[in-house]
Amino acid sequence: MKMKDVILMQQIHGNNVVMVGKKDIGTTIPNCDAMITSDPGVTLGVRVADCLPIFVVDEKGRGIGLIHAGWRGLENEIIVKTIQKMENQWKMETGKLKIIIGPHICPEHYEVKEDVASKFSSYVKGVTLNSGRTFLDLSEVARQQLVSLGVKNEDITIDSKCTFDDPILPSFRRDKTTQRNLITLSI
Ligand SMILES: [Zn+2]
Repeated sequence: MKMKDVILMQQIHGNNVVMVGKKDIGTTIPNCDAMITSDPGVTLGVRVADCLPIFVVDEKGRGIGLIHAGWRGLENEIIVKTIQKMENQWKMETGKLKIIIGPHICPEHYEVKEDVASKFSSYVKGVTLNSGRTFLDLSEVARQQLVSLGVKNEDITIDSKCTFDDPILPSFRRDKTTQRNLITLSI
C-alpha cells in the first residue's frame, strides 16, 4: 500500500464525519476524524498511537467507515455520528454492521484525570479506580456506545493488543512519539 493510494484524515480529536470517494485518493481530509465511502477501490487510512482505530463494515457491502477516537471523540459521539451517516446514505441497518476495533492503549495503561473520568462514569466498567488513580477503558466505552446503537455484541471484535505494552507499536503515552501506526481499510 502506497500513501498516494490512501485517503487520510487530519485527525484533530473532533467529531466531524466526511463522506469521501475516488476523487479524494491521495489526499488528507481536513477537520476530519471519521470517513465513510461506498466507492469501490477506495482505501481509507487512520494513523494511531494509543487511540482507537474503529472499522465499520456493512455485511452487504454497501459502504465502509473508518473512525479515529480517543476520549474526546467518544465523548462527542463520533461513533454515533459515523453510523448515523452510513444509515442515512445507504439505508443500512446497524444490526448488519461488523465492527473491528484495532490495537489501542489498554485500561491498565490509560490513566486519566478525574474530570475526564467523570464524563464516562455512566459506562459500567468504563472507569476503574486503583490506589487513588483513575483509568479509562476506551474500547469498553466504544463497545457500549455501539451496542446502544443496535450493533450486536457478537459483531464487535476488539483487538486486545495494547499499544503501550507492545514495543513494535507506537504509543504516545509510552514514548511521547510523533510516530503513528497506519491502519487501512479498503472497499
Ligand atoms: Zn497496556
